[in-house]
Amino acid sequence: MSADIGLIGLAVMGQNLILNMADHGFTVCAYNRTVSKVDHFLANEAKGKSIIGAHSIVDLVSKLKRPRKVMLLVKAGKPVDYIIDELLPHLEKGDIIIDGGNSHFPDTNRRYEELEKKGILFVGSGVSGGEDGARLGPSLMPGGSPAAWPEIKDIFQSISAKADGEPCCDWVGPAGAGHYVKMVHNGIEYGDMQLICEAYDIMKRVGRFSDKEIGDVFAKWNNGVLDSFLVEITRDILRFNDVDGKPLVEKIMDKAGQKGTGKWTAINALDLGMPVTLIGEAVFSRCLSALKDDRVRASKVLTGPTIPADLIKDKEQFVNDLEQALYASKIISYCQGFMLIREAAKTYGWELNFPSIALMWRGGCIIRSVFLGEITKAYRSNPALENLLFDDFFKNAVVKAQSGWRKTIALTTTYGIPTPAFSTALAFYDGYRSERLPANLLQAQRDYFGAHTFRVLPECASANLPLGEDI
Ligand code: NAP
Repeated sequence: MSADIGLIGLAVMGQNLILNMADHGFTVCAYNRTVSKVDHFLANEAKGKSIIGAHSIVDLVSKLKRPRKVMLLVKAGKPVDYIIDELLPHLEKGDIIIDGGNSHFPDTNRRYEELEKKGILFVGSGVSGGEDGARLGPSLMPGGSPAAWPEIKDIFQSISAKADGEPCCDWVGPAGAGHYVKMVHNGIEYGDMQLICEAYDIMKRVGRFSDKEIGDVFAKWNNGVLDSFLVEITRDILRFNDVDGKPLVEKIMDKAGQKGTGKWTAINALDLGMPVTLIGEAVFSRCLSALKDDRVRASKVLTGPTIPADLIKDKEQFVNDLEQALYASKIISYCQGFMLIREAAKTYGWELNFPSIALMWRGGCIIRSVFLGEITKAYRSNPALENLLFDDFFKNAVVKAQSGWRKTIALTTTYGIPTPAFSTALAFYDGYRSERLPANLLQAQRDYFGAHTFRVLPECASANLPLGEDI
């Protein structure tokens, strides 16, 4: 039997993607460096399905239909290069290698260029949704050699999640564009998670809500504009009690870990000069949380305001304001994410499919939400949309949410609750809508100490201050 596709890497993601492909009628050939895992998989999870195994790379390649399609789901980094090197002597021009791991996009750019020279088509695909997504329908973000897309489209769109009947998978763009978009997706995920955590902290510390009450608020929010996977799981987490009947979440050490994709997004935003402040703050918030020992010490010596127990008189209004703050901040985060992708498209010369990017995140992935349906609509009605804030839906939503957003941040600032993501979102909004910023003074300072020169406002141009020249 020859297989439609080969898949290398039988850890959780690879196994689940193979099972998903088999469920959709494709024959898959499975291979893993530790070959005993192939046999174990065939004898157990894969039993009775259209899945065959290979005991070597040569064996794998010999069992594939032409053009051969080989998907890698192995640890990101060097292992991807090792496997590509192993595969190359056995492939022919027009064969396709797909890297479905969490590779950094510059690596994907490099692999794409090297493989194109050899006539091998290369696809770097973001795969989101974790192990359940892989099994039942992930969000897939493929980019790379455009000629590969018609060959893999059927498999990819069949196994992906569906939102309103449409596959959460489409061609993103050339070279490392697929992994780039996945990177920004992960950055946005950092931002969404931080915003939710700040909302929880405000309800706990300012509102003195119990975990159950907070869970109930998230349950209510999940029926409205904030309807999303992350709000849904937060509801469940807050309602989950340990064996002693106490909320488990309160027993978890408040030190956040990170694997680096949020950091990559923030670094790339700095490289491209894009103010993606919310993701940046989300990454730094994890860094601050990791300084647990310092924080414990500082909490004993650095004083701040006391929060009165009965501070919140109107709980409903407090929760409504908080919902507005969360919603508006989330809009800003997505605006910033799309600004970054737009700038990347310009800088790297990629033609990107903006409506599809939002649609790909609409289902299957960690940031899936009803809200992304509105972003899809916005880009479908105007694919050249400069900024989501210029779309009527989002402009009106932010303007409407403003009062609750400002009240929430005023409250947290007054009472000393850190809300870096909420606050930076508002600062961005106020900066973005400011015709005039104090950068005039900044330019004057730069010129004063470093002769960096400045430009003059058109209405102030004169003989000694000519327009359009660096003075
Ligand atoms: P993983 O733990 O990242 O990687 C394990 C797999 O990589 C095994 O098949 C292992 O083979 C193989 N491997 C490691 N080093 C190798 C090398 N030097 N040469 C050949 N093979 C090597 O597996 P995973 O969690 O399933 O993730 C796979 C990819 O998907 C990763 O890039 C990950 O970042 C990405 N991803 C994961 C998730 C998730 O929720 N787990 C979600 C989205 C994306 P052996 O069995 O021989 O050790």
